[in-house]
Amino acid sequence: MYDVIVVGARCAGSPTAMLLARKGHLVLLVDRANFPSDTLSTHFIRPSGVAQLKRWGLLERVIASGCPPISRFKLDWGQHSLVGTPPPRDGVAESYAPRRTVLDKLLVDAAVASGAELREGFATHDLLWKCDRVTGIRGQTRHGSRCDSQSSLSRPANQAGAERSSFTHHKRETGWLRARRAAAAAPSSC
Ligand SMILES: Cc1cc2nc3c(=O)[nH]c(=O)nc-3n(C[C@H](O)[C@H](O)[C@H](O)COP(=O)(O)OP(=O)(O)OC[C@H]3O[C@@H](n4cnc5c(N)ncnc54)[C@H](O)[C@@H]3O)c2cc1C
Repeated sequence: MYDVIVVGARCAGSPTAMLLARKGHLVLLVDRANFPSDTLSTHFIRPSGVAQLKRWGLLERVIASGCPPISRFKLDWGQHSLVGTPPPRDGVAESYAPRRTVLDKLLVDAAVASGAELREGFATHDLLWKCDRVTGIRGQTRHGSRCDSQSSLSRPANQAGAERSSFTHHKRETGWLRARRAAAAAPSSC
């Protein structure tokens, strides 16, 4: 039994799991990917995002990966261009562009180092329910083993809205996000 289950272990999921684990919660973090893992994205992190990494104690690891700071920008429209340095956010003026294979692995590792349990290569297929509350997830490893995991902090379906209340339904949309929202949420009393 976990306090919280987070489905999806990249930029959103891993820091969520990390911060909850740092608060002392028992966290399960699952992803169908195995890390390091690439995904469709460019890599630019603005100063506000860099400031978050710094606050979490992770910026040094991005820098140690060999990723250079970016402080000067040029927007080029052919005949005209704008050159400059954006104002600092939370004391951070630099941007970085680490590869997702680097950034996501670093975030996953930080979540695990903070105490979250990581289950890689695990696809969440369904949500477990008690009354109108999500109490866990049902999924499958790459090798076909099925597994149910329960969480004690769950979200009532009616809080999430009808369109979010069914994993089967939200598979049509961004299933991972809705599953994450449903599985990691407010305390319940069914
Ligand atoms: C072409 C492109 C360029 C971009 N460039 C930038 C950029 O330069 N800078 C920037 O800040 N943002 C950029 N973005 C946006 C950025 O990629 C996303 O905002 C970011 O990846 C979202 O992170 P996330 O953790 O929320 O989700 P994702 O990165 O999408 O991760 C979701 C994870 O959940 C897992 N998952 C999903 N469903 C399940 C399931 N059922 N069971 C188990 N695991 C599951 C997936 O395997 C995946 O690992 C770009 C996006 C695209 C498409």
